[in-house]
Amino acid sequence: MNDLSTWASALVSAVDADNLTHPEACCRDARTPHALAGAPTAVLDHVALAYEDFQRCGALPLSRLRSDVVAHRLTVHEDGENILVARMVVPGGPWPGHYGLEAVAFTAERAAMPDAFPPCEDRGQVLAFGRIVAASKAYTARASGGAVLFPEQLAVTARPARQSFGVVFLDRLTTLFRDRVLPLIDDRHEGMHAFPLRRLRQLAFLAHEWGHRQGSDAELEVPARSRRLAAVIAELRADLEALVMLEACSEAWAPWAAGVLIADRIAREAWLRRPQAQVDAIAARHLLALLLRHRAVTLTSGHRIVLHLDQAAVFLHEELEMVRRVAEELSAGEAGAVARYLAGCGWAITDGATCYRELEQPIARYLGYQASMKETARA
Ligand SMILES: [Zn+2]
Repeated sequence: MNDLSTWASALVSAVDADNLTHPEACCRDARTPHALAGAPTAVLDHVALAYEDFQRCGALPLSRLRSDVVAHRLTVHEDGENILVARMVVPGGPWPGHYGLEAVAFTAERAAMPDAFPPCEDRGQVLAFGRIVAASKAYTARASGGAVLFPEQLAVTARPARQSFGVVFLDRLTTLFRDRVLPLIDDRHEGMHAFPLRRLRQLAFLAHEWGHRQGSDAELEVPARSRRLAAVIAELRADLEALVMLEACSEAWAPWAAGVLIADRIAREAWLRRPQAQVDAIAARHLLALLLRHRAVTLTSGHRIVLHLDQAAVFLHEELEMVRRVAEELSAGEAGAVARYLAGCGWAITDGATCYRELEQPIARYLGYQASMKETARA
């Protein structure tokens, strides 16, 4: 039996070579399907799915590969080894909006909600925390690579109705936070430095997912997550549900997990490249605008940010009520509900889905500047 790491490293090299040197090779003749041979027994079922996609698209060029079989049928081996090979976009990756062939080998463990959160049904959402064993270039790009795997990232001809898998690479999220966000946070947020950062990032992520599960079934489905404005309102709702829930949570870590959730949004995701087209960036800017309007984020003389969460509790609650109503209108078939809400908050929307908003306040300009400096530093 082959070792996952050795086999996956060779597979990843084939994927990278196909992207760089053979993008017009036909699916059947590309290097990647040949490199699928000799896989460890533990991932043979995953390999078979990828292989089926390559065979189905046979004579088409790689750029026309559609990964329907993987998107519809991959199930993650919890407490085991996994491989996903598909044509997909890497959110936050080096080529925003660019679909490339990607391979990610990883181990996984089930992501369970903490007992301290109010109980919620998993609603058919299966979520795992993964550790990357080997991954293609877009994934491994330092400080920008992929941090999640969801079916909606894959290039498909027909979207799956349900989310058959969801994987979060917590180490990647933690590193991004430690390198790009934590240095901007004032020391008076001592809990963010005192609690293990990986645990806080995990709690912040789980709180956000808990927030998603408070929405309607339709909101959780892949087609809804793939429509930008519907996805934006779902993201906003998940953040607000999470923040309101954490505010009521008596655990000592709860305010720090809320701080991590907010800080990652406003200091990092709000400044992703092409923010007008990135769901996370739009939701993040919206949250930042809310915090600024209510003076719930301030800047110290030493240029560190301070979050005033106690002050934020009331307006976050009010905004959650508003966003819940928008989501309900949308579910009831009011297609323009989200655009109306966003436009009312100061967003300019073009083509029905591209959302522009420049934030001119000094704190926003400072955060944007810091994010661009970190972007330049890694370029
Ligand atoms: Zn989300």
